[in-house]
Amino acid sequence: MSTDDTTPDDAADLADTDAEARGAGAAEVGAEDPGVPGPGVVAPLFTAHLEEILDSAVRDLAAAPTILVGLDFDGVLAPLVLDPSTSQVLPESAAAIQDLTGLPGVTVAVVSGREAATLTALADVPAGTRIIGSHGAQWGTVVAGPRGRELRADPVALTEGQTALLARLVRETEAIVDGVPGAHVEVKPAAAVLHTRAAARPDAERLTQAALDGPATHPDVHVIVGKEVVEMSVLSVTKGDALVQLRTELGADAVLYAGDDTTDEDAFAVLGEGDVGIKVGPGETGAAYRVTDPEEFSAVLMRLVTLRGGPLDTSA
Ligand SMILES: [Mg+2]
Repeated sequence: MSTDDTTPDDAADLADTDAEARGAGAAEVGAEDPGVPGPGVVAPLFTAHLEEILDSAVRDLAAAPTILVGLDFDGVLAPLVLDPSTSQVLPESAAAIQDLTGLPGVTVAVVSGREAATLTALADVPAGTRIIGSHGAQWGTVVAGPRGRELRADPVALTEGQTALLARLVRETEAIVDGVPGAHVEVKPAAAVLHTRAAARPDAERLTQAALDGPATHPDVHVIVGKEVVEMSVLSVTKGDALVQLRTELGADAVLYAGDDTTDEDAFAVLGEGDVGIKVGPGETGAAYRVTDPEEFSAVLMRLVTLRGGPLDTSA
């Protein structure tokens, strides 16, 4: 689905116009920018492994007046680890997000399946960053609080029926796990989630199947199967729904979205002309671009900072 009817030629024209019209708000794209490396071009090290086709797309995106940068957390900003409570954003990506949130016309949103408060604590992103947790069910913004950065969350509203269904999902999923080492049930505001990443392989497969054959089959349960995760939600919202809603709210002219998992495909599916979808890592995808891993993705974020004219104060 796309609400953008701009043709490629129109988009190129718009990009040119925007580059002229932006004035002091952003860098002159191409002025001192060596671009992709080539004969006679000494490029900064971090651009050296960005493919030219992706670099070109990021350049066009950076020229839009207002951009939304939607970022999945696990496997994109933070490399996947066995214990999800120890996940950390790569330092290069953290620095790039810090720079991006300070730039005019740029909004960064971390869009994850994780519970929003946990996500905020782990991601440690600057005030002003939008947080979308539980695959779009939870919304909030990072604010500067008395004890540091914290989440100002919008409440998740459930009906009585949804509340009862959630309790049933939690009960039944906990009965399935029942002490199996390395597996656990996470209770989110609108979902019960089976985690099997640290379980022995036969156990992981057995528990996953039991969840899919049991609680996941109840009416009005929306099932998301991710990497070592079965999420059973009483809400039907997706990352794609969230991205559309946020784009509308912000009036963003272009969207960059990066993700590594199957649930990110919903977000890639709502991107249109002039947007940039980046799949991080292997696997089938509807995204137009791909990078190898979170390290390579951090180069994309740093590139965007440079193209957008930041960081604002390099001496800081
Ligand atoms: Mg992910």
